[in-house]
Order: sequence, then structure tokens, then C-alpha cells
Amino acid sequence: MDLGARLAGRHVLITGASSGLGAHFARLCARHGARVSVAARRRERLAALVGELEAAGAAGATALDLDVTDAHSVADCFDALPAPLDVLVNNAGISGPGAAIDLPVETFDAIMATNLRGPWLMATHAACAWRDAGRGGTIVGIASIVAERVAGGVAPYCISKAGVKQMTAALALEWARFGIRVNALAPGYIETEINAGFFDTPAGEALVKRIPMRRLGRPEDLDAPFLLLATDAAPWMTGALVPVDGGHLVSGL
Ligand code: NAD
Repeated sequence: MDLGARLAGRHVLITGASSGLGAHFARLCARHGARVSVAARRRERLAALVGELEAAGAAGATALDLDVTDAHSVADCFDALPAPLDVLVNNAGISGPGAAIDLPVETFDAIMATNLRGPWLMATHAACAWRDAGRGGTIVGIASIVAERVAGGVAPYCISKAGVKQMTAALALEWARFGIRVNALAPGYIETEINAGFFDTPAGEALVKRIPMRRLGRPEDLDAPFLLLATDAAPWMTGALVPVDGGHLVSGL
């Protein structure tokens, strides 16, 4: 089955696409003939990405201003979408390292606003538009393996990603009747801006040794699972959290 071919002509909106996995998903979707809308706060980076995608022959690429923590910004982003949407990728996310006992509550609030409330706002906007247009749609969340097991020093991040897991299940349950499927990837560790520098530290090196496959993920390790969730290749699949982690979740206790 050619998963990528199923994206041709589809319109995919990716949040937090100015770097890391979001930019990678945008390149992947464009390569397979999707029209891509990339949305984030760093407009210059998005413009550069759109230029790159167009130069590579993308079917259509649009940069949109978006702060997922701001309900007005989310509404404006949907108003500015160039065409009916087929797939929403709720990718934007932040972390905030620090011991829970001393962590400012503002850090907790910021992580929840970005990782949990933001995807909620995006998902509900997309679902309303799909329901009102009488068409279905697909939502792909980007959770994390810390939705299932915790890591030290990133408590709010773990809590927010566990929330993404339950949001995926709860929205899948409510929206199946509208033809809207909601699934999420749970990636293991992949070096991007969110964890820059960590894997050069002794703690980071020790972490990699605990991954059964003994290596960090690469963005392309997510490609096939992403395409499975983003396309109609698995039309009876909804409410699922799909770990892609080199076996990290099944590492020995
Ligand atoms: P990243 O920092 O490169 O990407 C996160 C993106 O989200 C950035 O472009 C950032 O600008 C954007 N963003 C942050 N706040 C935003 C806001 N308020 N509005 C709009 N955009 C905002 O890191 P990444 O690794 O590419 O992370 C992408 C997603 O993958 C995140 O949800 C992250 O939690 C998740 N994830 C990453 C890993 C990993 O190891 N890299 C593992 C599991 C899950």
C-alpha cells in the first residue's frame, strides 16, 4: 500500500511548523502532493519553509500566523485557511524543565496552554467547520511517550501529554458520528529544538542507553506511522495513541 499517494490533493494544516517535527511533516506532506498550510508564530521561518516547498514543486503551500494559546489567533488562522481542510496536525508544543517542587506556576500554565488548550482550540475549530460543511476530517495529535510513563524534571510536560492522550480518546468518541477521526502519535526522543543540547549531557547519554534500540529517533522514523494516521489508509482507526520510540516504552524496569 502506497501510504504517501493517499495524501495527494489533500489539504493539511500543521501547527508549530516553523521547526523540528512540524517542518518535517510539512516537507513529507508536500513531497506526497498535499497542499500544506504551515502555521506558527515565527513568520520568517515559515516564509522560508514555504519558499523551499514551492521551489521543490509543492502543490500549494501557505504560511499562517498562529499562536495556539490565543483563541483569537486560532480563529483568525481558520478564517485565513486557503481551502477546505482535510487534515489537522496538532504539533505545536513546548517543554519547561525544572523540579516540580520549585517550578513557577506560570511555567505550568504556559505548558498547559500550548500543549493541551491549544490542540483543544484547534481541534474544536476544525471539527465545527467539518460538521457545518457536512464533511469529515482527520486530526493527528503529537503526544509523547511521557503520556504513558513519566520522566523526571518535566512534570507539567508529562501531565500535558497524558492530557493529549485522553483528549484524543474523548474527541474520537464524540466525533466519530461526524466522520472525524482523531488519533495521536507518541514519539520517543528525537533531537530537535525542544530538547537541544540535552543529549550531549551525561543524563542525555544515559537516556539513550535505556532505549532498547540504543539510538535516538530520527524525524523520518515517524513518516510511515504519520502517513497511516493522516491518510484514509486506516479508516476504522480512531482514538488511538501510537508509540514510535525504538522500544523505549517497553524498556525493562
Ligand atoms: P520544536 O521546538 O522544534 O517544535 C515545536 C514547535 O511548536 C516550534 O516551532 C514552536 O515555535 C512551536 N510553538 C510553540 N508554542 C507555540 C504556540 N503558542 N503557537 C504556535 N506554535 C508554537 O520541537 P519538536 O520536537 O519538533 O516538537 C514538535 C512536537 O513533538 C511537540 O508537541 C513535542 O512535544 C512533540 N514531541 C517531540 C519529541 C522529541 O523528542 N523531539 C518527542 C515526543 C513528542
